[in-house]
Amino acid sequence: MTVRVGVIGAGTIGQDHIRRLSQSLSNVAVVGIADVDRARAQSIVDKTPGAHVYTTGQDLIAASEVDGVVVATWGPAHEEFVLAALEHAKPVFCEKPLAPTTDACLRIVQSEVARGQRLVQVGFMRRCDPGYLAMKAALADGKIGSPLLVHCAHRGPSSPPMFSSDMLITDSAIHEIDLMRWLLDEEIVAGTVLRPRRSSRSPADLQDPLIVLLEMQSGVLVDVEVFVNAEYGYDIRCEVVGELGTLALGDTSEIVLRHAGLRAGHVPGHWIERFVTAYDMEMQAWIDSIGTGQAVGPTAWDGYTATAVASACVTSLESGVRTPVHLESRPALYANT
Ligand code: NAP
Repeated sequence: MTVRVGVIGAGTIGQDHIRRLSQSLSNVAVVGIADVDRARAQSIVDKTPGAHVYTTGQDLIAASEVDGVVVATWGPAHEEFVLAALEHAKPVFCEKPLAPTTDACLRIVQSEVARGQRLVQVGFMRRCDPGYLAMKAALADGKIGSPLLVHCAHRGPSSPPMFSSDMLITDSAIHEIDLMRWLLDEEIVAGTVLRPRRSSRSPADLQDPLIVLLEMQSGVLVDVEVFVNAEYGYDIRCEVVGELGTLALGDTSEIVLRHAGLRAGHVPGHWIERFVTAYDMEMQAWIDSIGTGQAVGPTAWDGYTATAVASACVTSLESGVRTPVHLESRPALYANT
């Protein structure tokens, strides 16, 4: 079966998803692309045989030729398109965040619960990264005993224009927020955000870096350094400290160069490069799930929870104090996810 996909939002990640869907993955064809910038959508369609432009995301969702919808617009537009996909009973892959507010996320959750069927997969692709998958398997092995602490770093070379301090949490650390829930298999109960010395090389109005401290239900403490103008590359680190040992993400460099008395490896320059395998795997899993009719991967509930934790952390960024996370009760639809 070839799954016919429509993509709404042809910006940075939308274009990368269109490339993987049309060139790398199996059993899928991109048939439609919509973007508020029609010329941008047309330029991508011109490079995507078999696809054509839809004037609006709503038209694309309603089209009978579209089996599944990818939402890759900016966050505030996600809710409208995810809800429309649910109304048309179409599987929808929504980039993170599911929506920028917990109220918007809950409207999506309620719509899916009312249908009684999972149709939403959220783009928390790190759950498909081979390194994190190996860490999760090693934790389950029990070799390092119970986890006590996790140290994470989320560094990027430079922030895009208009990037604000709260976006270090809602755009960047939200990946670690989802990942820690998945890796440790427990909820985050509170967040505290600390403001270290600012980098003089970051935009003047940006508090960069930040330390985001997450408290897990069991008492495990997770510190996340978020530094989006680290200049030297896109560098993601994670180390779990357990009672009997530690587990850390491996070095991502494919080769190590030894030359003239120095030893050097490669640091990725962009998240597209660092997580290419994870993006491929999450999207192939979504395509395959449309074939089987059984949704997989991060749920709308995971999307809601990540936004709830990120919101608590933004409150802490503003107030400077520890902020508890408030979560609604988990609906039965998500009981085993
Ligand atoms: P981007 O480059 O700004 O692309 C977004 C695109 O959507 C732009 O072309 C934008 O047009 C278009 N758009 C906005 N509102 C729309 C609407 N109502 N209907 C149709 N098109 C619309 O942003 P991006 O970096 O690709 O990010 C897109 C989403 O992916 C965000 O939610 C972001 O958080 C997420 N993301 C996830 C990852 C990940 O690792 N999973 C990585 C990067 C981004 P205009 O530019 O004209 O507004």
